[in-house]
Amino acid sequence: MANLTPMIKQYLEIKEEYKDSILLFRLGDFYETFFDDAQKVSEILQIVLTKRNGHPMAGIPYHALNNYLKKLLDSGCKVAICEQVEDPQTAKGIVDRKVTRVLTPGTIVDDNMIDDFNRFSTLITKSEKGYILAVFDFSTGEFYLDTFDFNENELLDFINSFGFVQILLSKNVESLYKQIKNMLPDLYVEVLDDWYFSNNFLEHLKDIYKVFSLDYVDYNNEELKVADAVLKYLELTQFSKIRHMKIPKRFKTREYMLLDSNTIENLGILPTSTTRGKTLYDILKFTRTSMGHRKLRDFIISPLLDKNIIEQRFDYVEALKEDHLLMEELKEYFSHIKDLERISSRISLRKATPRDLIALKDSLEIVPYIIESVKTNLGISSFFDKIDPLGEVKEIIEKTICEEPSIEVGSGEVIKEGVSNELDEYRNILKNIDNILEEIEKREKELTKINSLKVSRNKVYGFYIEIPKTQIAKVPAYYTRKQTLVNTERFTIEELRQIEQKLSLAEDRIKAIEKELFDKIILELEKYVTEIKQLSDRLAELDVFRSFAEASVKYNYIRPKMIEKSRNTKIINGRHPVVERFVSNFIPNDLIFDEDRFYIILTGPNMSGKSTYVRQIGIISIMAQIGCFVPAEVAELPVYDGIFTRIGARDDIVTGKSTFLVEMLEMSTIINRATEHSLVLLDEVGRGTSTLDGISVAWAISEYLFQVKKCNTIFATHYTELTYMSYIYNEVIAKRIKVKETMEGVIFLHKIEDGTSDNSYGIEIAKLAGFPVEIVDRAREVLEQLSDRVDLENKLKKVKNIKKKSYKVQENQLKMF
Ligand code: ADP
Repeated sequence: MANLTPMIKQYLEIKEEYKDSILLFRLGDFYETFFDDAQKVSEILQIVLTKRNGHPMAGIPYHALNNYLKKLLDSGCKVAICEQVEDPQTAKGIVDRKVTRVLTPGTIVDDNMIDDFNRFSTLITKSEKGYILAVFDFSTGEFYLDTFDFNENELLDFINSFGFVQILLSKNVESLYKQIKNMLPDLYVEVLDDWYFSNNFLEHLKDIYKVFSLDYVDYNNEELKVADAVLKYLELTQFSKIRHMKIPKRFKTREYMLLDSNTIENLGILPTSTTRGKTLYDILKFTRTSMGHRKLRDFIISPLLDKNIIEQRFDYVEALKEDHLLMEELKEYFSHIKDLERISSRISLRKATPRDLIALKDSLEIVPYIIESVKTNLGISSFFDKIDPLGEVKEIIEKTICEEPSIEVGSGEVIKEGVSNELDEYRNILKNIDNILEEIEKREKELTKINSLKVSRNKVYGFYIEIPKTQIAKVPAYYTRKQTLVNTERFTIEELRQIEQKLSLAEDRIKAIEKELFDKIILELEKYVTEIKQLSDRLAELDVFRSFAEASVKYNYIRPKMIEKSRNTKIINGRHPVVERFVSNFIPNDLIFDEDRFYIILTGPNMSGKSTYVRQIGIISIMAQIGCFVPAEVAELPVYDGIFTRIGARDDIVTGKSTFLVEMLEMSTIINRATEHSLVLLDEVGRGTSTLDGISVAWAISEYLFQVKKCNTIFATHYTELTYMSYIYNEVIAKRIKVKETMEGVIFLHKIEDGTSDNSYGIEIAKLAGFPVEIVDRAREVLEQLSDRVDLENKLKKVKNIKKKSYKVQENQLKMF
């Protein structure tokens, strides 16, 4: 370090403590990076890499920090921001610098860096009972904690499906680091040292949650340690105490159905980069508030298991649906409600801006209107009972913060007039200095009877009273001489001196007083954070129910009838809520399951609508269980404890698993997890292997599912052989999709009827796809020569002769997962 400049030495000392972060080192108007950091930053941000004394260096202008930060975080970096903590003008030698913030993708709360969606992170560790996962959104304060009996594949699957922005691992699961990075290369993953899980966790938790005991929460110490590690981590990145995180809740409580990533993806219920605009979420998204958008997403992936709560939601939706006026009123009110959930988080982190407070106040002004209008409708009138509309919060802000405050404290007016005499006085001085001087001039003229007396100022001498030499005799004794010119003398008086002093102090004082008052207001508002979150949560729910009601009116959805602990299902003229929006003439279809017949084998050519039908049944069930009305004429539906899907063929390129292996792994999960109250949706299982293998596996899976698991199932396939199960087993119903053959080719009617499809129409599809006639004709010729009627009949005979299998079902196999 001998030939290093003192500044680089300072840099290296600080960097030593933040080895895992990119250190942004404030130097005047820039944040500079050096050495390896500079290399990395210049690559990610595409900025110039320069050299100084031979060290690589790259800098970003301080005013553009947020843009660059976002890019760094998005590419999976941890960033430490090191500021100058003393005034360079008064500093002796090198300015003192300190890291004031550490940012990771999961710990940002600034509004301009994040969108409406939840930003969930997770901390994973392993105990004897399984993986402990803490899942939290720092920007909203949501916090879940639970132990899962996942195997490693299931855990990775869960991580893959959840869309985390950040993953923290304890040392004992460090080996997951590589696998997660392989799967999701841009995701931020960090391994935490053991001391995060230290023994003082109870004391620390009690301090954070301000409770005397944690006996009432239903967690064991291993789990509480993990919750505590999360809070410690957050405190370290924020350099402050964390108060806005909620007390964790069990994740897999039996309140919700656990949807796995395949089902979420296969059914197209949430947008991904390729399905944006064409998912259930998009169709139902009439929500108006940021909290509402997030809540809708939460609802969609957490279908309810309790019939009463589902019915309660239906009641709300129904009440809204039938009250056009209320719907319109709420729509308008909601468009003025800002992101209260995140604002409240920023308040408790002391990171709220003046405009956050105005946004909070403006929203709270609307809240009483929302509450009042809801009260006019009996079906939903008690919706806000026990919720505080937070009039006091509104008042605190109204009284103290300017209507249009500057973006940050210190760069313009934030505190209202009348809050602090001292502040008003200083501001007055700044604003009215010319008037004040005029007043003094007027008064002094009168007092001294010197008409030519003038009060002015200049840069060098400051304020003065100028008097022509001819009038010198009239100058009073309390005037002090300041300067003598050819024809005039300049004086000053105590009052002018004081104004001068105040003026030079005024700007600094204004900043200081504003900051002090603003901090005090934030501290005052911090007391209401829990209530703000409760209110925000309730508003978000109402926004979602209103959204469901609007979708129901617009798209003609009906209230389903829910049946518990039953396989009976009746859907008359059901529709796929997304496909029906994108095709001109959607054909509705029915579904009937009863206690004895609940396993449908659906056959039909490619492109006839099998997948659409299978998905439609899954989506309708999810819609019902989140409290939304459904696209059908009649819907009587079981409350499912789980919906499992195996749809479509895909290779898992990352882990190098073949289509068939992926398929079988997914099937095995379904077979293990499904219960007699689950819905299983299968589309083309067994496709990734030879026909005979495929049929045999699909056959065996089916027998197991309807005999042992006894779950409602739709199995779409083009193996017509499978439909023969309907002859052998009473549980199995054979359905097919109607096809009309015409002179011009086949027409898919998309209508489902009883029976078996006997032709897969592959050649017809090739024709529809616009193949040259020669190819289509040649394919027919080849098919003709390959088709061997005797062979086909033999095969059918064999299928019909497959011996019936009866599984002995043991009681414990039927237990819920
Ligand atoms: P398959 O699974 O049999 O190959 P899909 O379900 O993918 O067929 O359907 C193919 C296309 O047919 C869909 O993209 C959709 O445009 C149309 N389709 C499917 N079902 C219907 C329906 N019930 N009414 C109208 N069009 C439909």
